[in-house]
Amino acid sequence: MMIEYENYVAATSVAEATKTLAEGNATVVAGGTDLMVQTAASGRGANTTLLNIRRISDLRGVALDGGRVTIGALTTITDLLTDGVVADAASILADTANRFASNQIRNMATVGGNICNASPAGDMIIPLLVLDADVELSAWRDGAVTTRAVALNEFFTGPGKCVKTEDELLTSISFNRPAEGFVGQFGKTGPRPALEISMVSVGVGGIVDNGGLTNARVVYGAVAPTPIRAAKTEAALEGLSLNEASIQSVLDVADSEVNPISDVRASDWYRRHLVRVMTQEVLQNVANG
Ligand SMILES: Cc1cc2nc3c(=O)[nH]c(=O)nc-3n(C[C@H](O)[C@H](O)[C@H](O)COP(=O)(O)OP(=O)(O)OC[C@H]3O[C@@H](n4cnc5c(N)ncnc54)[C@H](O)[C@@H]3O)c2cc1C
Repeated sequence: MMIEYENYVAATSVAEATKTLAEGNATVVAGGTDLMVQTAASGRGANTTLLNIRRISDLRGVALDGGRVTIGALTTITDLLTDGVVADAASILADTANRFASNQIRNMATVGGNICNASPAGDMIIPLLVLDADVELSAWRDGAVTTRAVALNEFFTGPGKCVKTEDELLTSISFNRPAEGFVGQFGKTGPRPALEISMVSVGVGGIVDNGGLTNARVVYGAVAPTPIRAAKTEAALEGLSLNEASIQSVLDVADSEVNPISDVRASDWYRRHLVRVMTQEVLQNVANG
């Protein structure tokens, strides 16, 4: 489907971008790797104005300040692979980036776009939920840029749906630098190792000390209408010494928390099977550090 936008705005500041959004009928494009495919296929994102935010240089990069890591919305997947703060403070993000698409897509695709697309299978969402991230949403209200923070865990409301309003721009993502001893692991399954939308993805994080796991966080993608934190599995893991038998004991809990559907990529039965296999594998990796 061919979409003809009437106006094109290439904003260079958050103020300019949010003012354009406040005027209404504008579609944001960052890397375009989701949007271009979706507008061509279904007309999603059709609006009067196409708002390119790619030139807002303030929105790209990773910073560590006062124990808080902040990632600009326009930070690309390639940036995450090469960033020193990520490597040092949150390597689960780089590990996930390493399983994401191809080099060409990684160079264009942004973290903000991955979140705003709100796919239950969005890969970067998984480690960011493990890291307990917040997102910053900015809007032009009463003649100025105003911001609000939303916990990423409360951001998604359904497939392709989130709490961000039409006039809001996702400007950054932030989380506390994980404590000493934190281990985070990501796993994803698809027919190919990369360049593949996840059939199921799993993220696990926590503090590993003498084989025991505390502050456990367990996240699943592509097994429910939104990516989910698995609270009962986290509770079952808390304080557990990770070994073959104890890992086996939490798999029924994990199974009880997911609600997968059958679609072109996998049946619900197979997704449930993957949840067990991948939870086992990722927990074993966490135990091994
Ligand atoms: C071949 C191919 C392979 C892929 N492989 C993977 C993969 O392995 N894993 C994966 O998770 N995804 C994958 N994707 C999907 C896609 O690349 C990612 O979701 C990517 O992160 C989207 O980012 P973007 O900057 O391109 O977003 P865009 O396409 O520019 O935007 C996506 C949506 O978010 C909105 N948006 C973007 N940025 C903002 C913002 N800052 N504020 C408000 N709204 C915003 C747009 O309006 C649009 O609705 C793949 C896509 C392709 C084409």
